Amino acid sequence: MGIRDLWNILEQVKQETSLADFRGKKLAVDFSSWFVKCEATPYTNRSIFYRIVDLMSNGITPVFVFDGPKSPEFKARKRGESYFRATSQWKELLNEMGFPTLYADGEAEKACAQLNSSKAVVGCVTDDGDVFAYGATTVLKDYRTGSKEIHLYELSAIEEKIGIGQKEMIAAAILIGCDYHKGVESVGREEFKDLLKELRNNEVPDIIDRMRGWRNNPEILSIIEEEKKLNTDNKKKSAHCSRCGHLGTLPRHSKNGCSHCNTPKECNEKTEDSGMAPCSCEFHALERKKKPFLTELKVRKAALCQPCFPDEKDEEIIFEFMSKDESASNCIDLMLKTANYQNVIEKLTEQFGVIADDTKNFFPALVKMVLYGQVRDLAITPVELLRKCKKDGEPCYLIKFKQFEFDAINTENVYKIKVLQSVIDSKFPELTPKDESKAKKDQGQTQAQAATSKERKRGKNDDSRQSKINNFFSSKKNKPNRKASDNTEDLQSLKTE
Ligand SMILES: [Zn+2]
Ligand SMILES: [Zn+2]
Ligand SMILES: [Zn+2]
Repeated sequence: MGIRDLWNILEQVKQETSLADFRGKKLAVDFSSWFVKCEATPYTNRSIFYRIVDLMSNGITPVFVFDGPKSPEFKARKRGESYFRATSQWKELLNEMGFPTLYADGEAEKACAQLNSSKAVVGCVTDDGDVFAYGATTVLKDYRTGSKEIHLYELSAIEEKIGIGQKEMIAAAILIGCDYHKGVESVGREEFKDLLKELRNNEVPDIIDRMRGWRNNPEILSIIEEEKKLNTDNKKKSAHCSRCGHLGTLPRHSKNGCSHCNTPKECNEKTEDSGMAPCSCEFHALERKKKPFLTELKVRKAALCQPCFPDEKDEEIIFEFMSKDESASNCIDLMLKTANYQNVIEKLTEQFGVIADDTKNFFPALVKMVLYGQVRDLAITPVELLRKCKKDGEPCYLIKFKQFEFDAINTENVYKIKVLQSVIDSKFPELTPKDESKAKKDQGQTQAQAATSKERKRGKNDDSRQSKINNFFSSKKNKPNRKASDNTEDLQSLKTE
């Protein structure tokens, strides 16, 4: 996808990351990129569902972005009827689930990039490198459910280490080529890298303006003129001394010295850093003049083989990457909204074939969304701190939360969820064991406190709604209690990809 060879060019700034690094943040998800990946698995819809739960479990709000109707002609994708039907069904469901969703004007990557560059989201989840040409600053590639090895690319690192920003990406699309443009013949990634280095040394501020001005750039034209003149005058390169490199010959210099070296006899040995005066002949003068522009001269020559450069199509590509996506500009409220969850679960199972064993992961993930502040109008009630534990090396507590009223799938009345200690310390300080050693000594007392705190909570919530919940729970109380494992947390074993 996207610019040819891009991911190879970016290899040196690739970082490993996991979703945990984006906890409590928002990410734009290029849904077509997801769909294509999940379509390659035996259970497309279940795979998509698990990706959603995976993001939620990390307290991440995905903003789902879909391809819109106005794709530029050169990017028009040949996608079948079934693709559009399936993705639009998902869009509808994701809406019902309360996720922010967005139909881009045209390409989804473009809207993702814009949400990212305007800081509405902190990154884009996509495998399509075009997002960078659209101006994305943080890209998560090779996403897999539960993976701790998602690849992270940051534009700041790319700019710093490889010298490629948005405009350079666009230039790459035109020079090296991309999915929808063959590029300039004989320009590959090595030439492009050299070109960027040269332009940087020559302090060229804007590569696109530079390319547009290639035909008439006076500095470059003067070099070409000079070279032409030397060639047409048919001058032979005069003899140069093999020791000092100046005009003359070694035997003559040995006898009469060299005027450039300013020696009456012999001449100076030419070494890398001898700091000797350069040869003043016109061949060497031109060589020195050309040296800072060698790659540019080569690439320019290849590009100008086109009757017009940049031509209409090149300009169309530049415009596509540089222009704005209105839908993303108007996208403001990116919170997860509460939904009619009974409907959602019903649809998931009946229409999308996500089995009940899968769907029971949804509500514990929703608790995480509340914990990390990604949903406004949903309350959660911690019941008990069970024990200290770790998750991915981070100190956590295993907390028992009261089950959501609308959760008709879970049979245990509570969720047992690992939560970062720091989050519990700040949100529910009354649950936190006060002081380790003291807590041990006064264990009895701590338990008593916990009990009062529980009591207090119950008292506070004891309204008609609460009794409804209690009724709901009591109807299930006779069911066998499963082993108190952390199965709500364990997506790994349920992974479908
Ligand atoms: Zn010499
Ligand atoms: Zn000399
Ligand atoms: Zn010379």
